[in-house]
Amino acid sequence: MTRTLIIGAGITGAALAFQLSRRGDDVTLVSTHAEGGLASAASFGWLNASFFLGQAHFHLRHQGLAAHRRLQDLLAGLPTTWQGCLWYEATGEAQEETATDLAAFGYRVTRLTRPQIADRLPALGPVPDSALFFPEEGASDPAILARALIQASGAEVIRATVQSLSEKNGRVTGVLTDLGPIKADRVILATGTGTPALLEPLGTTLPMLQRPGLMLATNALPPICPVILATPDQEVRQDAQGHLHAPASAGHQSDHAEALGSFPVVINATLQRLRALFPGQDIQFARQAMALRPVPGDGLPVAGQGPLPGLWIAVMHSGATLAPIVAELLADEITGGPESPLLAAFRPGRFQ
Ligand SMILES: Cc1cc2nc3c(=O)[nH]c(=O)nc-3n(C[C@H](O)[C@H](O)[C@H](O)COP(=O)(O)OP(=O)(O)OC[C@H]3O[C@@H](n4cnc5c(N)ncnc54)[C@H](O)[C@@H]3O)c2cc1C
Repeated sequence: MTRTLIIGAGITGAALAFQLSRRGDDVTLVSTHAEGGLASAASFGWLNASFFLGQAHFHLRHQGLAAHRRLQDLLAGLPTTWQGCLWYEATGEAQEETATDLAAFGYRVTRLTRPQIADRLPALGPVPDSALFFPEEGASDPAILARALIQASGAEVIRATVQSLSEKNGRVTGVLTDLGPIKADRVILATGTGTPALLEPLGTTLPMLQRPGLMLATNALPPICPVILATPDQEVRQDAQGHLHAPASAGHQSDHAEALGSFPVVINATLQRLRALFPGQDIQFARQAMALRPVPGDGLPVAGQGPLPGLWIAVMHSGATLAPIVAELLADEITGGPESPLLAAFRPGRFQ
């Protein structure tokens, strides 16, 4: 049996553990943070392909939605829902351009008028003249999903920090952790923002942008937001218990800010925007979560073979959307299958 070591227990490492166990590997996860990861535990969890950076990125994200559905076919009780997204981050001609572009890619897009929007979202205060509805989109809690996938994989989990990769005769043979060495037939880095530090001693650069993200959750409210709502200045979704989840920055997936600003100010501003969206609701702060998003230098995922045999890399932003499909495709490649054309644009070597 091939002994596979996956470093990182966020959604990426968890999805890989699940897929590789299914293919017969003996999988061990090593992670500094508990099952559920770091960025994964602070994510908005919007599963979408309406945000994309080019055609290859769109197709991977679109396949990502299908991969989430396949996971639901395999495992009961996953925290994934398909409520669709009502989107008017852009208005006027820019909104129509988005609709045309996405429809040309084969994405399902419905154009909604003001009365149709008011009908779907009666609690919405300011109703826009038009919006797009993306029925294929949904949401998940990546940390809960990661824990479910790890449990289903049967992988052993070791809570330790990897200090370096071990190498013999030009091949990666395991890792050195703060608890001691661990040997493996192959090592996969699903280490998010921790990846560049592990690659650097091999002479490999993985540029990572500085992109802090802050998520806010509110008190439980009556059902007021049956869709993922993306307005020009706020994205928000409501979970089954009634809590609103809202990133502190609008358009958070393309957010370029390198710093967050003062937490109380940012949180208060987010609450004000939520109260303006849903007037008359008693919207109160419940909790916050902050993490650095693992955004590689060009904003695109990194998935494939590392600089030495025996080493693989899977690091990505929008990992809530992408981890299941990247894990499926990469697991096939790792276990000897052909290289997937869907991953061709996202290989680690592009930064060298
Ligand atoms: C505020 C916010 C909002 C987001 N919204 C969305 C969204 O709406 N849709 C979407 O698709 N994506 C979204 N994302 C992005 C998505 O959440 C991340 O891309 C995804 O969670 C990354 O998962 P991961 O497992 O790769 O990394 P992480 O969850 O960060 O996990 C990395 C793991 O590696 C471990 N690790 C790192 N270094 C070491 C080491 N040396 N030794 C041992 N362990 C190590 C850590 O302990 C951790 O367990 C958002 C992210 C944030 C922060």
